[in-house]
Amino acid sequence: MSDGPDPTGSAGLLISGAGSVGAALALAAARAGVPVTLVERREEAELRRDQRLFVLSEPSWRWLGEIGVLAHLETPACPIREICVEEPGQPSVRLEALDVDLPVLGYTVWAHGLEEALRRALRSETAIRLLYGSRIERSVPVCGEAHYRIETPQGATQITPPLAVIAEGQPPAWALGSGMRCREKDTGRAALVIPLASRVRPQSAQAYEQFEDRSLLTILPAATDRSVVIWTRPRAEARSFMEASPEKRRLDLSRQIRCRPEAMTEEGNPVLFDLISRRVTPPCADRVLLIGNAAHTVVPFAAQGLNLALRDARHLVDAIASARVRGEDWGGGAWNARFWASRVCDHRRVDQLTLGLPRLFEQTDPMVRLIRRGGWRMVARSRTLQRRILVRGLGWNP
Ligand SMILES: Cc1cc2nc3c(=O)[nH]c(=O)nc-3n(C[C@H](O)[C@H](O)[C@H](O)COP(=O)(O)OP(=O)(O)OC[C@H]3O[C@@H](n4cnc5c(N)ncnc54)[C@H](O)[C@@H]3O)c2cc1C
Repeated sequence: MSDGPDPTGSAGLLISGAGSVGAALALAAARAGVPVTLVERREEAELRRDQRLFVLSEPSWRWLGEIGVLAHLETPACPIREICVEEPGQPSVRLEALDVDLPVLGYTVWAHGLEEALRRALRSETAIRLLYGSRIERSVPVCGEAHYRIETPQGATQITPPLAVIAEGQPPAWALGSGMRCREKDTGRAALVIPLASRVRPQSAQAYEQFEDRSLLTILPAATDRSVVIWTRPRAEARSFMEASPEKRRLDLSRQIRCRPEAMTEEGNPVLFDLISRRVTPPCADRVLLIGNAAHTVVPFAAQGLNLALRDARHLVDAIASARVRGEDWGGGAWNARFWASRVCDHRRVDQLTLGLPRLFEQTDPMVRLIRRGGWRMVARSRTLQRRILVRGLGWNP
C-alpha cells in the first residue's frame, strides 16, 4: 500500500493533515520514539503558494530547530527584536526582547518556505509513514478501541492506533458527531496580506502593529529587504481594496501607514483571508484529538495561531512520551480530557488577547476611549507593564 514501513501498528500515533501543525507534530513524535502514520489529502507534488510571512516566537523557533526543521529551511528568516504598537495620535509602545532577557522575540519566515522545510524534514524521517493523496475514516469506538480506515491511491487499510490527531485545518463532520461542539462565528472581517517590494519602516528587526477603530494593521519585515502588511478590516472595505487598481491601493496604504506612496510598491498580488472564528469544545473524545485550525482559529493579530498550536503539539508529545515511559494507556477519553485541561489556560489567554484587545480599540464611547488612552500612556512609560504584556499577554517566556 505505501512505500514506507508500517511503524504504527496498534502502538503509534495517527495524524491526519500534514500542514504546519500536523507535520511538526509528526516530526516531534517520531523524534520522541513514537511511531507515526501521517495522512495528507494533497499529493506530494501539490504545493500551496502561501504568500504569508509567519512570525514564529523564539520558543517555537527553538523547538522547530530541535525537531530538525530549521536545518531544511532554505529561505532566510528575519529576527524580530522589537514590536512597536501604535494608535495614531498616541505615544507608541515598544516591546523589546531585552525586556524578557531574550536576544530576539522571534523570527519572520515565509509560509511557503516553512512548508517546504517541513516537507523535507518529513522525507528524511524514517520513523514516519507518510501517505500523500490519502484520507482517513473512523468507525465507532468499541470497548475503548477506535478503528481507522486509511484510503490511499494504492488501496485501503485499517489501523487501531491509541490516538488519532486531526490537523486537517477544519474539523471533520464525523469528529463533531462524537461529543465535540463546534462554534463558528463570522467576524465580518477579512485580513489582507500585501507583500511589498521594500522595507516600509526604517527599523529592521521591528514588527509594527497599528490599532484604529475599525482596522488593525501589522507590518512585518522579511529577511530580503522586503515586508508584508497584514491589514484586518471590515470585509466590504477589504474586498473593495482588492478590486481597486494597484495605484489606488498604493495610495490607500500609504495614507494608512503615513508613508511615501513610492515605498508601497506591491510585489505580487494581495491575498484576502475571510476571518471566521472557530472553537471546538472539547477538542477531543475517545481516541481522537483536534489540533491547530481544526480545533481553533485565531484572529491574525500578534502572531498567536500557529505558535499556540505548536505549543499544543509540543505538550502533546511530552505527555505521550511520559505515558509510554510509565506504561500507561494514552489517547483514551479520560487521558485526552486531562491533556486538554492542561492546555485550556494557554488557549484562554490567547483568546483574551486576540479578541479582547481589538474589541477595546473598536470602542467609540468617549469615556472608554479616555480610559484606554490613559492606560496606554502608562504602558508607554512603564517597562514593568511592557514586560507583563510580553509575558502574560503574548506568552513570551523569560
Ligand atoms: C493572514 C494570516 C496570518 C497569520 N499569521 C500568523 C503568524 O504570523 N504567526 C502565527 O503563529 N500564526 C499565524 N496565523 C495562523 C496560522 O496561519 C494557522 O494557525 C496555521 O496555519 C494553522 O495550520 P494547520 O496545520 O492547523 O492548518 P492548515 O495549514 O490548513 O493545514 C491543514 C492540512 O490538512 C490537509 N487536509 C485537509 N483535509 C484533509 C483530509 N480530509 N485528510 C487529510 N488531510 C487533510 C490540508 O491539505 C493541509 O495540508 C495567520 C493566519 C492568517 C489568516
